[in-house]
Amino acid sequence: RSVLERIHLLEDKIGAYITIADEIALEQAKAADDSISRGNMTPLTGIPLSIKDLMCTKGLKTTCASKILENFVPPYDAFVIQKLKQAGAVITGKVNMDEFAMGSTTENSSIKTTRNPWDLTRIPGGSSGGSAASVAADMCLGSLGSDTGGSIRQPASHCGIVGMKPTYGRVSRFGLVAFASSLDQIGPLTKDVTDCALLMNAISGYDKNDSTSVPKEVPDYTKSLQKDITGLKIGIPKEYYEVKGLDPEVEKAVAGAVKKFEEMGARCVDVSLAHSKHVVAAYYVIAPSEASSNLARYEGVRYGVRDMEKEEILEMYRSTRSKGFGPEVQRRIILGTYALSAGYYDAYYGKASQIRTLIMEDFKNAFESCDIILSPVAPTPAFTIGENTDDPLTLYLSDIFTLSANLAGIPGMSVPCGFSKNGLPIGLQIMGNHFNEELMLKAAFSFE
Ligand code: GLN
Repeated sequence: RSVLERIHLLEDKIGAYITIADEIALEQAKAADDSISRGNMTPLTGIPLSIKDLMCTKGLKTTCASKILENFVPPYDAFVIQKLKQAGAVITGKVNMDEFAMGSTTENSSIKTTRNPWDLTRIPGGSSGGSAASVAADMCLGSLGSDTGGSIRQPASHCGIVGMKPTYGRVSRFGLVAFASSLDQIGPLTKDVTDCALLMNAISGYDKNDSTSVPKEVPDYTKSLQKDITGLKIGIPKEYYEVKGLDPEVEKAVAGAVKKFEEMGARCVDVSLAHSKHVVAAYYVIAPSEASSNLARYEGVRYGVRDMEKEEILEMYRSTRSKGFGPEVQRRIILGTYALSAGYYDAYYGKASQIRTLIMEDFKNAFESCDIILSPVAPTPAFTIGENTDDPLTLYLSDIFTLSANLAGIPGMSVPCGFSKNGLPIGLQIMGNHFNEELMLKAAFSFE
């Protein structure tokens, strides 16, 4: 009740929620009370969590912040939602995002503007901006987001909280509305590293309904919550510090964090991620290509909204999609369709896939000489709302530090590491080798 009251008190200011699930939340809270009184409880029993509005929730609207799905009520729960329900968690509602997770500011939502709780004139980051803002403003105790190219880590960094993108295949994507299937991964946004480990325990694991889910035992991530990193080898990718537009305040905060790791007994080694300069180009071919294919299913027949004025079927498809998708989504569909078309496939999609392999090899080599990699999350702290809305390319470039973890499939997380002079949070990115979330959590826990 107290979290719901806080949501209603702040929602006009923050704009984090698309759907506030008052009734369902109170029912789940009651069930949690009953289960506790029967002596049945997990660390998540009765814990109020918000969910990015692209994970299917049975009986609860799932819009992807798009007009085309504004009336879509899924008939089933995503794997992660089933897991949270089994653990007794309470779902407070569905939170705002960039339409179909395409963006890094949450300004591409067709539903509302979400504001950064640290400064209401600024973006919360994105695409999981509603998740990050709801956690930072205490409008839930934790949240699930999705990360295709940084959408958990970057908003976590801008809102001063912890966010983790697990290894590709660690968490099932069953019931996650697909953006770019080979990159998408669900993960937690939380107030601290302990909560991150608790949510990871609940949502990780094999699922036969996701063919890319990996049948690997789930460790107890809370065992990693130890303050001991003596001898830890930290990789510093020199290419990341040559990035144009890296804000000196961000650079300073990250350098301070690296120093703190050294003081705690870690050792720095230089590593090279030589193909970093091609990361943005490769991602912005691969992600829109997969998106153009995934979004073909929204034609007004099987899901969501249909333009009822058109009688002829192709006309109906065209007009439903033109009215239903916002400008950024349309831009990506067009880019992706072009990159996949006969005659261009080899030059664009094929080439980008080859670059992706080189990026994976860079990380493979880097992890031969280090245990974790430290870097900035975003080149600047959160900027003001509207500042970059007309400039998609600048926004694409700002994803430079986060995209490679998705292309390589490795885990990455953001932990708060300082503030800018005007009081905006700055995050530190920790990347680890495949399925080495435990070591990342240990490093993050030692640092926080
Ligand atoms: N900002 C990136 C994009 O717009 C990443 C989005 C994401 O991770 N969902 O594609």
